[in-house]
Amino acid sequence: MSQAPSGSADARPAAGRPRDNAPAAPAVRLLTLAPGVRAAFTGRHGGVSAPPYDSLNLSAGSGDSEAAVVRNRSLVAAACGLVPARVTWMRQVRGADVGQVREPAGPAAGGAMAASPAQCRDASFTAVPGLALGVLCADCPAVLLADPVAGLIGAAHSGRTGTALGVVPALVRAMTGAGADPARMDAVIGPAICGACYEVPKQMRDAVATVVPGSGCVTRAGTPGLDLRAGLAAQLAAAGVRRVQTDARCTAEDPGLYSYRRDGRTGRFAGLVWLAP
Ligand SMILES: [Zn+2]
Repeated sequence: MSQAPSGSADARPAAGRPRDNAPAAPAVRLLTLAPGVRAAFTGRHGGVSAPPYDSLNLSAGSGDSEAAVVRNRSLVAAACGLVPARVTWMRQVRGADVGQVREPAGPAAGGAMAASPAQCRDASFTAVPGLALGVLCADCPAVLLADPVAGLIGAAHSGRTGTALGVVPALVRAMTGAGADPARMDAVIGPAICGACYEVPKQMRDAVATVVPGSGCVTRAGTPGLDLRAGLAAQLAAAGVRRVQTDARCTAEDPGLYSYRRDGRTGRFAGLVWLAP
């Protein structure tokens, strides 16, 4: 199911060169996660990146041009009613560290491609209204959390490694330590590769399923698989989070989303959450 670029290879625009024509509206699905808490999942259409990142790639680390990524981030911020400089991004390292964000990374944060060393992590939370937390995804689920009473929101990138390490339970604990209550939290698990598509070696499936009950499955092809969203739902329930929504779209099956598993070199979409200012 790899995507063939339209036109011949030599007619393809140079990778990373923004398109000249104005994009259509960026693909952004907005939702209200909890009272006063907004969230969004972006898609791959409506941006300016050239193939193979076409077109709404939000990741600076994918090989795309910085100009295209900056433009795409601005388009997404505008669609969300946010100031680009107040959307924070992490340098995701597939770990379980959690950090509190108290302010944007700096004056250049909206366009800065490099997260500061302090942002090398996979989960963040904040109490600052209007400051959005962004998670970059291709096949890995983003998990967005909110306790509207405590005025705290959180975001985590939880792929196979992060889920096995418990990054989402760590985020719930960190937010709880800052005054949140899991019983008051709302969560949404974002688009991800589904269990029917996510084939892994049996040994890996069994190892993850041992530490993340509910994550082991069988794929559509009858081979060992992982259903990360099922595992995350179980982790959230065990952490005391009762209200959990899921965006059931499968990245590998939905051409409106980026999938590393399907496409290899590709862009990233994002999950975003923020306290309405
Ligand atoms: Zn699938």
